[in-house]
Parts: sequence; C-alpha cells; structure tokens
Amino acid sequence: MPENHPVDVVVVGGGIIGLSLAWRLRERGMSVTVLERDEAGGATSRVAAGMLAPVTEVEFGEAGRRVLELGLRSARMWPRFAAQLTEASGMEVALLQTSTLLLARDEDEARELERQLAFRESLGLRVARLRPSAARELEPALAPTLRLALEVPDDHAVDPRVVLAALRRACQASGVQLREQTRVRAVELDAAGERAVGVLLEGGEPVRAREVVLAAGPWTREIGGLPPGAGVPVRPVKGQILRLRDPEGPGLIARVLRFEGGYLLPRGDGRYVLGATMEERGFELRPTAGGVYELLRDTRNLVPGISELEIEELSVGLRPSTPDNAPAIGRGALAGLTWATGHHRNGILLAPLTAELVAGLLDSRARESSENDLLAACDPARFSDTWAPGLSTARAAP
Ligand SMILES: Cc1cc2nc3c(=O)[nH]c(=O)nc-3n(C[C@H](O)[C@H](O)[C@H](O)COP(=O)(O)OP(=O)(O)OC[C@H]3O[C@@H](n4cnc5c(N)ncnc54)[C@H](O)[C@@H]3O)c2cc1C
Repeated sequence: MPENHPVDVVVVGGGIIGLSLAWRLRERGMSVTVLERDEAGGATSRVAAGMLAPVTEVEFGEAGRRVLELGLRSARMWPRFAAQLTEASGMEVALLQTSTLLLARDEDEARELERQLAFRESLGLRVARLRPSAARELEPALAPTLRLALEVPDDHAVDPRVVLAALRRACQASGVQLREQTRVRAVELDAAGERAVGVLLEGGEPVRAREVVLAAGPWTREIGGLPPGAGVPVRPVKGQILRLRDPEGPGLIARVLRFEGGYLLPRGDGRYVLGATMEERGFELRPTAGGVYELLRDTRNLVPGISELEIEELSVGLRPSTPDNAPAIGRGALAGLTWATGHHRNGILLAPLTAELVAGLLDSRARESSENDLLAACDPARFSDTWAPGLSTARAAP
C-alpha cells in the first residue's frame, strides 16, 4: 500500500451503519478505521425501537417504492446477518419474529387502513384483514373499542442495543481500528480538489485512506471540505421514545402493534418500547411532556393495560433524513468518497443491505457491482443540484 494510504477505508461515524459496513469491509480483507466523535453505538441507533418492517413502513409515491425495494431485500438478509454476527461476536443476536398488527380505533382510521390494505395488496405484499374479534383473540389486551386490524406476518424486530454491542465486538475481533472520542471536521481532498484522500480531525490531524465513507447519521452535513454540489442534504427528524417494563413479566402483548401516532413493541421478556414522535425541530433533543403525553394517550386507548407498566427510560433520537426520506448509499459526485447515510426511519432494517452495498463497491477484487438497481434506488448523486456547502474546502498539503 502506498505510504500516504495507511488504511484502505476510513469510516466516519460508529452507529449501526458505520459499524456494520466496517465489519463487512474488514471481512473482505480491507484495513478499516472507524472514527467516532463520542462512543460507538451511542447516538441514534441506540434509541431506535428495532422494527424490521418494510411492509408496515411502506409509503405512497415513487420514493416509497424505492425504500420498499431496499427494505424487503435487507429484511431477507437479516436472519443470516444476525447468525453471522452471533458467531463473530459470541453474543446472541436474536430476531424477534413477532409479526405486526396495524390497528384502527375509529371509522376514519378504519377507512385509512382499508386504503393501506389495498395499497399493499397492489404491491403484492402479504397483509391479512382481521375483524376486531379475531385481532383480540390474537392479542387479548386490545381494547374492545378496536374497529379494524391488518396483520403483516413478515415484519419482525431486533434489539438494536444488542446488535450494536455485538457489532462493536465483531469489529474489534476482526481487526477494525475503532477510534472513539475522535471528531472529524472535514473531508480532505487531493491537491487538484478532485478526490477525497482522507479526513481531517478536529485538531487538524489528517487520517489518510484509499476510500472515505461518510456514515455520520443526522450530523453528516456538519462535515466540511466538500466541493459545491458534492453533498447530501441530511436533516435531523426528532423522535421521543419510551422504554417500559411489566413487573409481572411478559404476556401483555406478543406482536408489534402499530397505530396512528405510534407503536408498541414487545421485547418478549416483559419489556416494551413505545414510540415514537416525529418532529422537525433541528438538532433540539429535549424530551417534552406533550410528546410523552400523546404517546401514552394514543397507546392507552388501544392497550389499557400499559397503565400498569413501569417507565424505565425516556430517550430522544434524531433520524437522519433526506428530502425524499430514502437513504443515500453509494458513490456521489466526488471520487474516493462513499455515502452511507439518510436512513430515516429504517436504519436498523437497512444495516445489512447498506453494509453489503458499500462493501461491494469498495472491494477492488469485486468486478462491477451486480446490485445496480438497488444502488440506483439510493443514489446519493440525486441531490447534487440542491445542496449548498456550508464549510470551506480542505485540501491535502501538496
Ligand atoms: C425514536 C426512533 C425510533 C427508530 N426506530 C427504528 C426502527 O424501529 N427500525 C429502524 O430500522 N430504524 C429506526 N429508527 C431509525 C434508525 O435509528 C436510524 O436510521 C439509524 O440509527 C441511523 O444509523 P446511523 O449509523 O446512520 O446513525 P447514528 O446511530 O446516529 O450514528 C452516527 C454516528 O456518527 C457519529 N458522528 C457524527 N458526526 C461525526 C463526526 N464529525 N466525527 C465523528 N463521528 C461523528 C455520531 O456520534 C454517531 O455515533 C429510529 C429512529 C428513532 C430516532
């Protein structure tokens, strides 16, 4: 390796995306350094509920279809990803194969659910319509006022905190260099300003690499040094989320419940995740009484038994979101730079696929990627006209 390329790949950001792809890159024989400004796995990914729910999450419109395509592929990859991660880390990464119920509480919501059912059926997705009595047979804790339910059998879940701990261990065991408390200030360009050659840390220290991957989640845009038009406009979307515990143990609900305004996810051991608000408030991270009140009110209408649960934790995270809410994965306008960001509500779901796509792109032994359709669905270059760089260009010393 040339002297000024001390590692093959430098990854900025140690969330689920950065750690997953670092592990996969290292497995393919590349030397990898992850630069994380705080503690790896300590930001958005730690807050997430962990639903692997492409069918439940699908949205109308062209971008919604693209996210569905990516999500379905990644959902199929999760069982193998979890098994390999279990083996590499020695930690049990279990999929919670729960299925999901979408619920309506009144006539308006029932009409909307019928529309959602027709939409999913038109896409060939597996969804079943359940009468309230049938739904209550499956989940006796549901309130008698339930109007309609849809069952999505293929949407499951995972505990992101277990995944993050296992990824950290797998990265370290495989020889990924993880540098925490290390903030990246800018991408560093070659003298011609045409290629990324590494990054500059906050104090000015360069970290050189053959390839740079930006996986800085909602903070991606704070990283400077990019030429005009080369960036991806990621914004933060705030989410407040509660972790609850039943002192009586498991049994209140067995499936993920989704409804207008939130979801309730069982971990299978008496713990539940109740989320989440969707708020456009920049980088503001304060938990609010209003946000928590609405989550509890909406859920209690459907599952009155949640009143008895203990509150273990209230947390706030920032979803990394692009203008069309589809991720940006792949090479953009600048040579040497790969994007792995903008995963919005689906970063846990999309982690295995993102890691494979990036590893396929950066593996110099691989011939042309066979995943061109998927890469086109999340092409970072689709934003190149809309982005205005905030920070000046950093160039490598000649
Ligand atoms: C309330 C909530 C619930 C969610 N539920 C789900 C769910 O059920 N299923 C699902 O699939 N997704 C869910 N998501 C979305 C998911 O959490 C995100 O899409 C995913 O975590 C993004 O991962 P990431 O690695 O890109 O970001 P992060 O986990 O935020 O990681 C980015 C990392 O980059 C680091 N960083 C930033 N700037 C720099 C810098 N300059 N230098 C060095 N390091 C830097 C940060 O410190 C951070 O550790 C949820 C999100 C929220 C907020």
